[in-house]
Amino acid sequence: LFQEEGINQHNFEKKVTGLKKHRLVEPMDRLEDRMCKKHNRLLELFCQTEQECVCLLCTEGDHKSHPVVPLKEEYEVKSALLGKIEADVQQMIQERKLKIKEIKDTVEYRRSHT
Ligand SMILES: [Zn+2]
Ligand SMILES: [Zn+2]
Repeated sequence: LFQEEGINQHNFEKKVTGLKKHRLVEPMDRLEDRMCKKHNRLLELFCQTEQECVCLLCTEGDHKSHPVVPLKEEYEVKSALLGKIEADVQQMIQERKLKIKEIKDTVEYRRSHT
């Protein structure tokens, strides 16, 4: 019975983590945040020098000498990175929990067998 409980708990946490991850990859929802205030164009590029979103016309002007990447790509890399960090943390928590459970089990075992 104890074992089964552990599995259910694990599945539940997996689901929660999955939901959190889903939130991270949600696109920016306010349209004005995705428009260039200078050129009134969609911000579809990301300036790596200034770490900000730029539009196509920006790359022809202020950001002409700056390396830019398509915004979607940069966004996905960052999301993937965040997802990975979260997964690592979750794994660490799981491992720690397992360790504690192991210790508890050992104590229980010793108690019932002495
Ligand atoms: Zn612009
Ligand atoms: Zn720039």
